[in-house]
Amino acid sequence: MNTPRDRARPLRIIVIGGGVGGLSLAQGLRRAGVDDVVVYERDDSPRGRMQGYRLRISPEGERALRECLPHRAQDLLTATSNVRHEQGLAAYDERLTPQWAPEFDDSRGDAPDKVDAVDRVTLRRILLAGLDGVVRFGERFTHFERAGGKVVAHFAGGGSDTGDVLVAADGANSQVRAQSRPAYRALDLGVRAILSRTPRAGAIEAGLPEVLRDRFVNVTGSNGLRLALMPMVFRTPPRKAAERLWPGLEFDETEDYYMSVFSVHRDVLRLPDSAFFAMTGEELRDLVLERTTDWHPDLRGVFAHAEAAETYPLALRVTTPVEPWEPGDVIPLGDAAHTMPPTGGVGANTALRDAASLCRALASVTRGERSLPDAVAEYQREMVKYATEATEMSLKIAKWSMRKIDLTEGNLPRT
Ligand SMILES: Cc1cc2nc3c(=O)[nH]c(=O)nc-3n(C[C@H](O)[C@H](O)[C@H](O)COP(=O)(O)OP(=O)(O)OC[C@H]3O[C@@H](n4cnc5c(N)ncnc54)[C@H](O)[C@@H]3O)c2cc1C
Repeated sequence: MNTPRDRARPLRIIVIGGGVGGLSLAQGLRRAGVDDVVVYERDDSPRGRMQGYRLRISPEGERALRECLPHRAQDLLTATSNVRHEQGLAAYDERLTPQWAPEFDDSRGDAPDKVDAVDRVTLRRILLAGLDGVVRFGERFTHFERAGGKVVAHFAGGGSDTGDVLVAADGANSQVRAQSRPAYRALDLGVRAILSRTPRAGAIEAGLPEVLRDRFVNVTGSNGLRLALMPMVFRTPPRKAAERLWPGLEFDETEDYYMSVFSVHRDVLRLPDSAFFAMTGEELRDLVLERTTDWHPDLRGVFAHAEAAETYPLALRVTTPVEPWEPGDVIPLGDAAHTMPPTGGVGANTALRDAASLCRALASVTRGERSLPDAVAEYQREMVKYATEATEMSLKIAKWSMRKIDLTEGNLPRT
């Protein structure tokens, strides 16, 4: 009789995209003893495009991270995570009058080592730790083809690699998805956002009131503008934490900050996309100041001190409904499978969940417990369920915060 050991199938796994999901998958596979994995990332180095914003980590996201990461990296993650503060969201109008706000459940309660938010750049460094030789930087995936029962990935520099499995972890504008599911494009919600970062010390000096300092704050302006303000206060600065927990692992000097996201509907913004997306950090900061002249001065002080180099324009998009891909050797993960607006703070958490789940699925194939199509089909069945819930929740909050979003079927353009 054929035992799982007889059916064991070594897999060469090619991951496109070294973001939150792709790197977690690589970590998880290595932890599970699946060593033939390589990650191709278009950024030239781990520093990449430094979008130093913070990420909220949900209970599901934390569980997945802990499942994928070795213990030392988990300790570093906890040590560099956000100092825990009050739960939930505080809502105000632009004159700082308190408003009603939805509540978030957190099944972790007050666990002392819970990780409820991290700095994205710090997380990426932690996810890269120990993956020397696994991640190839400066490799932009262009297309794949099938040859001899294998999948061949091609890169802009002319190189290629052949594997048994190709994982599309290349984010919201996935090139793998563009080839394998060209019609499955994201819908443009019509919301334009300005993402920026203000050093905590600067914001406090500028008069940020005590009551707003340590909370996730949402401000609704009567002029159709929304502000989400989130603190990132490191329990231990990453460099210091690494000296203790992982000597030799390098981190940049980092300071505590507030991440702010201004959002406004395109109809209210009244700027063509070509102009909005061409704006520099300084111009975007000035735009926010110009549109908030009647806002409380203590709030305006926060973005007057925003770092121009860390200020970016953004469009809110969604892929809905979430659909499985053909269960085979090209497998979607994270934003490539399900792009959702950042309003729910769950996009990365869903990508992490995918990583842990796909890791289990692929490891079971290498042990001969299941066939690849069966394992991938089951991974996607689960993924579609929880990613649909996450997408719907994110859309609900987006709609709550921006009533102009028109979710009527067929009304949103695909981009
Ligand atoms: C402002 C903002 C705030 C957010 N806040 C939260 C939050 O608080 N919590 C949360 O859970 N989520 C949040 N999200 C969502 C989260 O950032 C994404 O859902 C998450 O990063 C998706 O992970 P991913 O691995 O699928 O893709 P990514 O993290 O985007 O990684 C994709 C990687 O693929 C690489 N890549 C792309 N194309 C190619 C190519 N052709 N070849 C090679 N490499 C390629 C990219 O360089 C990138 O490194 C936020 C998003 C935004 C914009």
